[in-house]
Amino acid sequence: MKAIADMSSDEAAGIRFVLMDIDDTITRNGKLQPESYMALWKLKGAGLKVIPITGRPAGWCDLIAREWPVDGVVGENGAFVFWEEHGKRRELVHPNAVRNDHPVLNRIRADAAKEVPEIRIATDQFARLFDLALDFAEEEPFLPLSDAQRIRDIALRAGAQAKISSIHVNVWMGAYDKCTMTEYFLHEHFGWDPVNEDRAVFFVGDSPNDEPMFSRFPLTAAVANIRRYENYLHHYPALVSVRECGEGFAEIVDTILQKRI
Ligand SMILES: [Mg+2]
Repeated sequence: MKAIADMSSDEAAGIRFVLMDIDDTITRNGKLQPESYMALWKLKGAGLKVIPITGRPAGWCDLIAREWPVDGVVGENGAFVFWEEHGKRRELVHPNAVRNDHPVLNRIRADAAKEVPEIRIATDQFARLFDLALDFAEEEPFLPLSDAQRIRDIALRAGAQAKISSIHVNVWMGAYDKCTMTEYFLHEHFGWDPVNEDRAVFFVGDSPNDEPMFSRFPLTAAVANIRRYENYLHHYPALVSVRECGEGFAEIVDTILQKRI
């Protein structure tokens, strides 16, 4: 990982799309920070397309699409993209997305509760359309990562997809993920060319669940809290900030905007 200050002016000038994770990339301790919210407005003001990418629920993404300075938001680990156009909230749902009333998800929920009695359905589940979120570390009692891994294995054995974030085990039916949905949206909505325009996309994240994005795109950065996971990563971002969380995101944004002048 090189310092964000080492990004070249040519690299910065070629960016059209700035994509970012939400939790612990633009938030700290669960709160959206003023620096990062201002940084989103600066990106928008510079004419860049701004697209958060998150495992958070449809209900949250409806608010983000309508209220934040963004051009779209990829939610529930790639099940859909929401955006606002001429005052209307539009959506693109992944063709493989399956609603979360699927009987296999109900069975996984029951099996997970037998295996790890303290696991619980995330309190944001009511706002979800496509995935089941099991909370192991958003609210107390905090359970060890090994419990999350046991639940992920139950889900995978049952034929579902599963990903562990820093707080939830997210489980869904249907073959898609954040990265494939992002590429699909950029292509369908903006005419982005996945072969020749790799370097038009810049992604910022903070943790191992961002690795598919770090490995897919050549221009990626992490906020400094990624260093906690340095020994667990297989795919590193190209660049890293000095500061953590939202302050780090603001540092990254200020650097690329200065280098584009
Ligand atoms: Mg994160």
